[in-house]
Amino acid sequence: LALTACSSERSESTATAGGSTEAAKGFPADALIGVALPAKTSQNWVLAGDLFTNGLKEAGFQSDVQYAGSSTTVADQQAQISAMVTKGAKVIIIGATDAAQLSTQVEAAKSAGATVIAYDRLIKNTQGVDYYVAYDNFKVGELQGKALLDGMKEKKPTGPYNIELFSGSSDDNNSAVFFDGAMSVLKPQIDSGDVVVGSGQTEIKQTATDGWKAENAQRRMDSLLTSTYSSKTLDGVLSPNDTLARAIITSVKGAGKDIPVVTGQDSEPESVKSIVAGEQYSTINKDTRNLVKQSIQMVKDLQAGKAPEVNDTKSYNNGVKVVPSYLLEPLIVTKANVVEAYANDPDLAPLTKE
Ligand code: BGC
Repeated sequence: LALTACSSERSESTATAGGSTEAAKGFPADALIGVALPAKTSQNWVLAGDLFTNGLKEAGFQSDVQYAGSSTTVADQQAQISAMVTKGAKVIIIGATDAAQLSTQVEAAKSAGATVIAYDRLIKNTQGVDYYVAYDNFKVGELQGKALLDGMKEKKPTGPYNIELFSGSSDDNNSAVFFDGAMSVLKPQIDSGDVVVGSGQTEIKQTATDGWKAENAQRRMDSLLTSTYSSKTLDGVLSPNDTLARAIITSVKGAGKDIPVVTGQDSEPESVKSIVAGEQYSTINKDTRNLVKQSIQMVKDLQAGKAPEVNDTKSYNNGVKVVPSYLLEPLIVTKANVVEAYANDPDLAPLTKE
């Protein structure tokens, strides 16, 4: 078992902090701001689009908020970013559909004088990305790995525990970061034999879920149950997000098995209900409202000619540079803290009352 060392590239070197040269210039208060989001692979993206549209308008900017389509995602997003550059956007905020395929568009944006902010997902292999705003994704993975172990111990105090691993879409830079974070917690347990990956599928390539699609996770879980768990108990499943967690639970229920400890992420309403009902074990609260607010704050600072605030200049290396980042703290949510975790969320709070 080898950790996918090159994927998250958390560099320990320190970057020169803070702003880039164009910060000093500022731009008109009603400038066009482009927001290029990936396909709606989870509800956080749907929410982000609405929040950007409303928040940028409230702040006095013009906005152009676009989603990549669900099949030709890369080409769509490339064309959308190019169009934003042509229209003269001063800042382009990008939730990359494919981390490694935007350098041409990002560099064109830079040449046209725009600032590029990577939103939630890092953009790889280009000097052109100025800032990164995200929940600390490595931390998300660590919290998921820890929740998986905690959940299994709650049910059965001693191992060995049988688990399976799922990761996200391989074109999303976050997938490897989540997986590496989780494996930093799980690998020592796997090495000691206390945790056993029944299928032996421990490489990220073997565990990936193409396009973050529920049907792909469900199909893989179906086949794992048949190949490996006809007479063995499955104690836990590492799932990188809620959409996939529910697909995994659907598969297990369909096979007539007990639901293992399943992790998740995103605080999707259906998963919050599932946690309250005692089915899905955990999710992660990465409140989209705060992430969008932080991104818009960066736009306001750039507009005023100020260097946007960053709080991390060493963790997120995109292959050619360490991208100055503003990282927010993700929060693990289980049945034990579900009420307090969403107390300030008007949409989710009502779901936590049994
Ligand atoms: C986001 C996750 C989300 C996934 C699928 C990731 O990049 O960070 O929150 O579950 O995309 O949409």
